[in-house]
Amino acid sequence: MSEQADVIVVGAGLAGLVATYELTRAGRKVLVVEQENAANLGAQAFWSLGGLFLVNSPEQRRLGIKDSLELAMQDWMGTAGFDREREDHWPRQWAKAYVEFAAGDKRQYLHDLGLRLMPNVGWAERGRGMALGHGNSVPRFHLTWGTGPGVVDVFLTKVIAAQKRGLVTFKHRHQVDQLVVTDGAVTGVRGTVLEPSSDLRGVKSSRTPIGEFEFAAQAVVVTSGGIGGNYELVKKNWPERLGKAPKHMLTGVPAHVDGRMLEITESAGGNIVNRDRMWHYTEGIQNWNPIWPNHGIRIIPGPSSMWFDATGKRLPVPNFPGFDTMGTFKYILDSGHEYTWFILDQKIIEKEFALSGSEQNPDFTNRDFKLLLERIKKGAPGPVEAFKQKGADFVVRNNLRDLVDGMNALTDEPLLDYEDIEREMIARDREVDNKYSKDFQVTAIHGARNLLADKIVRVVAPHKILDSKNGPLIAVRLHLLTRKTLGGLETNLDSQVIKADGSVFDGLYAAGEVAGFGGGGVHGYSALEGTFLGGCIFSGRAAGRALARDL
Ligand SMILES: Cc1cc2nc3c(=O)[nH]c(=O)nc-3n(C[C@H](O)[C@H](O)[C@H](O)COP(=O)(O)OP(=O)(O)OC[C@H]3O[C@@H](n4cnc5c(N)ncnc54)[C@H](O)[C@@H]3O)c2cc1C
Repeated sequence: MSEQADVIVVGAGLAGLVATYELTRAGRKVLVVEQENAANLGAQAFWSLGGLFLVNSPEQRRLGIKDSLELAMQDWMGTAGFDREREDHWPRQWAKAYVEFAAGDKRQYLHDLGLRLMPNVGWAERGRGMALGHGNSVPRFHLTWGTGPGVVDVFLTKVIAAQKRGLVTFKHRHQVDQLVVTDGAVTGVRGTVLEPSSDLRGVKSSRTPIGEFEFAAQAVVVTSGGIGGNYELVKKNWPERLGKAPKHMLTGVPAHVDGRMLEITESAGGNIVNRDRMWHYTEGIQNWNPIWPNHGIRIIPGPSSMWFDATGKRLPVPNFPGFDTMGTFKYILDSGHEYTWFILDQKIIEKEFALSGSEQNPDFTNRDFKLLLERIKKGAPGPVEAFKQKGADFVVRNNLRDLVDGMNALTDEPLLDYEDIEREMIARDREVDNKYSKDFQVTAIHGARNLLADKIVRVVAPHKILDSKNGPLIAVRLHLLTRKTLGGLETNLDSQVIKADGSVFDGLYAAGEVAGFGGGGVHGYSALEGTFLGGCIFSGRAAGRALARDL
């Protein structure tokens, strides 16, 4: 195939691959322009855990979870908190359509492509404690068998097959710097050819130019991802409602998540909405084996670890591990310090610590049953144990006094008072003698264990953390970690980019994270988790199908 394509797709991440797949199904020719090398196909989705938000799935029903479209819609809208007239116009419609997709043909669409799910369903973002407020009322986080690479693979396989049929051409190391606009419509892209790179996936690559390029097509789909790898942009757009932007955050995404295409698209005439909405994490740890600069990993915690701020104050209700990411974020920034502490024991780490990232879950990622079985053996899963032993943020000791000394030694100022922590830990341990408690965190643990799946694989039975038979004691210093961009290019339900005057920008489409996963902010202010890969799939599919229909 020559460079004459029907459509140019900018970015070979999940959203770009899905749009390309849909276009090639309809026989359209696609030129995929990507700044990284071929090793990075699938981009962020490859690194992801592959968690998918589904509603009333067979997996949920098998576990006795009663979910429904109405309950999910209530949760989504309570979490999103849409409150802006113009900026939330399309996001509201995308949210409704997306929840219907998650309760409708999402699972079948992926199943038909060969994607398979784990039988267990995780309960992420358990919420703020009010039925109409933030959070998932029931578990909805479906883990893919094969994690992120499994999700990428089902689309990539089809795209490679289409490449063999002459329908797809990849232009790697081609960085788009400009959209070409002719008579008010987007007709192509211009940019810089970067020097070849043999870097491994995820490694920050050079930006040394070796040439220029220009390609033309009937339409361009921008699928370039968010801003999470560019902390200057994160700070520039920082939501003041969460407090002052942190001085430092770990980076939860590769360096190519640089946000450049947002500005490039805006200067061509595309409208950006909800730029102050983002989804970062409070449970980041420094990767002892980093791939990209300042690489942080997120702990996906079960509910039992005790959570303290930098000065040793227990985080207030409902800021328990895994309940309310944004509420906890605000509490932390208001505390005047940018890190917090988990205190737990060996029993908790073994069952309740999951690490987000495909490379941190080799059993699920490589579909390795033998390795998977090791999870039921005594001891933490291998990657968690490696962090416990080698991670710069872990302190492991046999008694609380030594633990607190170790925690103080890890920070610039020794802010923790042993007596304060001891009083809090002893008081909490007294609350686990009954099956009920006035301590809401203990009550939440009992509540979670009413769900068989949580009881078996995720939530440890309430027990005394200070009892040495459950030891050693473990403290983990938690950093703030960048990840997702919730705002972005405003798009209609066909993923067409909208201009500042509200009209459609002819020839220009956007999908995935750059479009706030659809509409410029399908999540509103907060997310229910597992909704991002699905957002790439839904919005990438919408772009591909609309173009296949209209070209
Ligand atoms: C560790 C980790 C765990 C995650 N876990 C989950 C999960 O369990 N569930 C979930 O739903 N989500 C998860 N996510 C989020 C999800 O993976 C991402 O939001 C999603 O994959 C984004 O896909 P995208 O196609 O929009 O953008 P990206 O994956 O960022 O791809 C964009 C591509 O565009 C290219 N590009 C950018 N600018 C240009 C340019 N100017 N010229 C040419 N090319 C360009 C980039 O190089 C990149 O290849 C996780 C993310 C990470 C990093």
